[in-house]
Amino acid sequence: VKRLVLVLGDQLTPDVAALRAADKTRDLVVMAEVMAEGTYVPHHPKKIALILSAMRHFADDLRDEGWTVAYTTLDDPDNAGSIPGELLRRAEEHGAKDVIATRPGEWRLIAALDDLPIPVTVLEDDRFICPHAEFEAWAEGRKELRMEYFYRQMRRKTGLMMEGDKPAGDKWNFDHDNRKPAKDDLLRAQPMSFAPDRITEEVLTLVADRFPSNFGALRPFWFAVTRAQALHALDHFAKELLPGFGDYQDAMLRGDRFLHHSILSPYLNIGLLSPLEICQRVEDEWRAGRVPINAAEGFIRQIIGWREYMRGIYFLEGPEYPRRNILNHQRKLPDLFWGGETGMECLKCTVAQTRDEAYAHHIQRLMVTGNFALIAGVNPAEVHEWYLAVYADAFEWVEAPNVVGMSQFADGGIVGSKPYVSSGNYIDKMSDYCGACAYSVKKKTGAEACPFNLLYWHFLLRHRDRFARNPRMAQMYRTWDRMDEDKRDTVLADAEAFLDRMSRGEAV
Ligand code: FAD
Ligand code: SF4
Repeated sequence: VKRLVLVLGDQLTPDVAALRAADKTRDLVVMAEVMAEGTYVPHHPKKIALILSAMRHFADDLRDEGWTVAYTTLDDPDNAGSIPGELLRRAEEHGAKDVIATRPGEWRLIAALDDLPIPVTVLEDDRFICPHAEFEAWAEGRKELRMEYFYRQMRRKTGLMMEGDKPAGDKWNFDHDNRKPAKDDLLRAQPMSFAPDRITEEVLTLVADRFPSNFGALRPFWFAVTRAQALHALDHFAKELLPGFGDYQDAMLRGDRFLHHSILSPYLNIGLLSPLEICQRVEDEWRAGRVPINAAEGFIRQIIGWREYMRGIYFLEGPEYPRRNILNHQRKLPDLFWGGETGMECLKCTVAQTRDEAYAHHIQRLMVTGNFALIAGVNPAEVHEWYLAVYADAFEWVEAPNVVGMSQFADGGIVGSKPYVSSGNYIDKMSDYCGACAYSVKKKTGAEACPFNLLYWHFLLRHRDRFARNPRMAQMYRTWDRMDEDKRDTVLADAEAFLDRMSRGEAV
């Protein structure tokens, strides 16, 4: 009897577990574009277009390889509207009695498959370096789950940048070389962009029609939508941009949205590339002497370290994790996150590029939008939904630990040992935003003072009981305590006034 083989929009890998377990001569691959997946948060139109176009191309590739694919487009009049609905419809249509699936990367869909009234064999998604059981064993009995130790284990396991059992260059981590601000460089290569083909054009028309009011620019659409294109993008990054990746990893520039970043996460997360092949390529560039060690190590750490670690945390902590709110932050996400007017140049630029590209790089996500939401006390559930919606690479297993854990500290310190908060100084040091801002980063009080300068202290004082004893934060409290009392009162009063204006919906 025919079995259904479910392939989801982020499982576009020819040897994904469900396809490996299936038989192309008798089983039926089910792929479906459904409104339930398109609307659980108001996704960026570019993100929806990327996934739908990549799915359609992937289905064609499967057919070319001899699979039978039942593919449902979003505008199919018989579309059942959800993944379980589509599986049931196809089961009835083809007399199939059971389903093979690769475990989804999100608790919501895992539960949906569990609830299906026909038998489903759910296979582990083994496109990752660290299986769940290995992460659980690593976490077992540890007081703190620090990424650095996990990363070393992944280096040993993969052998990436290892010399025997020692790390290449005799150090695990070259991050102290990676904090340089960048200068405008008109000659810097841009990420590889791809002109839409006929399939992508059809998808773009459909997305424009079905999601007309979602935040984000659909065109120009330039993402890779096939594995061949994604490999092209990897090659381009490795040759042109990787050498400067380490040095400028934390830099931000108004005139350059991508700097030396790879823009590979959208392709990696939907399965067009594999983490190991990317890292292998990066290691090869370093071994050939074409890129410095701090660039190669820094990049590989992001993928086999941070990315795998975040996935481990998401599945270890369980379905409630995205709703954690240990600091009890309740403020509404301000309108400026959706493009509302603001004089804060750093936020204006980050949100504008997010709207245009469905992309911002790590430091913009962490130290601009994330930092601001945290020190302003925004409800982390709303912050989580925003990030899940607006970035092309946002899938809950990787987005939630980054947002709820790393950036909002809403998990109480599982991912980070201290909250990522900073005054305007850090942004000024790493970017050219402040020179063009309506506020002054040098001013600590008054109407012109950089809001980060005000809210930073407001945050620390709101949570003094929790953080004052943290050895990595004690110095900040000592600085505050040494400040003149009048100045302290003014800082807090100005911060309150700013938050009130923002909460009233005024442009800030
Ligand atoms: P590069 O700077 O070129 O880095 C290379 C690769 O390393 C990335 O492609 C990515 O796969 C991996 N990587 C780097 N940092 C992380 C990290 N912290 N966690 C996981 N992988 C990492 N990444 C996502 O893939 N999806 C998300 O939804 C997401 N949300 C984030 C939200 C916040 C608040 C923060 C602080 C980070 C988030 N990240 C997320 C991590 C990181 O910002 C992105 O992976 C990165 O910006 C993607 O762009 P890139 O491919 O150009 O990355
Ligand atoms: Fe951002 Fe403050 Fe700099 Fe303005 S002055 S760009 S608000 S950090």
